[in-house]
Parts: sequence; C-alpha cells; structure tokens
Amino acid sequence: MPRANRRRHEHRPLAAGGFGETTTERYAGSLWTVRRVSGARATRTYLCPGCQQEVAVGTPHVVAWPAEGVGGLGDRRHWHTGCWSRRDARPAGNAYR
Ligand SMILES: [Zn+2]
Repeated sequence: MPRANRRRHEHRPLAAGGFGETTTERYAGSLWTVRRVSGARATRTYLCPGCQQEVAVGTPHVVAWPAEGVGGLGDRRHWHTGCWSRRDARPAGNAYR
C-alpha cells in the first residue's frame, strides 16, 4: 500500500483544549493515534473492542484512531486501558482484569 506521507512519530502536545497529549502506537499492523482519557472526561458509555464489554461512564480509558489512511477521527474506538495495553494478546472472552 503506497504511503502518501509518513507521520511516524508525530508526538506533539496540543496547544489548547486540554485534551492531553497523544501518542502513536502500533496495533494490528498499522499505526494508531492514542489519547488517554481521564475519568472526568468519560461522559458516555462505549463498547471496548478488546473485550466487547462496556467502558462505563467515569472510567479512565484510551481512545485510539487510525494515524494513517482513511477513517481518522471518524474511526475512533474506546478501549479499556488494560485491553489496549494487551491488544496484541487479545483476551478471548471476558478475561479482562
Ligand atoms: Zn475492554
């Protein structure tokens, strides 16, 4: 797959907005932009793609979206922090923490 531009280690703090910094991490063969979300900012319930269970309101977690290719912000996914850190060893079923 040709790569229009390379944004390997884009790591810049956001000047304003207070969303915290993002990192670029690898998952499933592609690069993802990852942002840590504090419990105070978790105001909705999401379905974690790692364990297929809810990320409850008020739970600190991570948001990840593709750092390259199509999708971008529209393809955001909310993960439990533990599920994201173990994303390459996806637990089968409900073996999360
Ligand atoms: Zn999970």
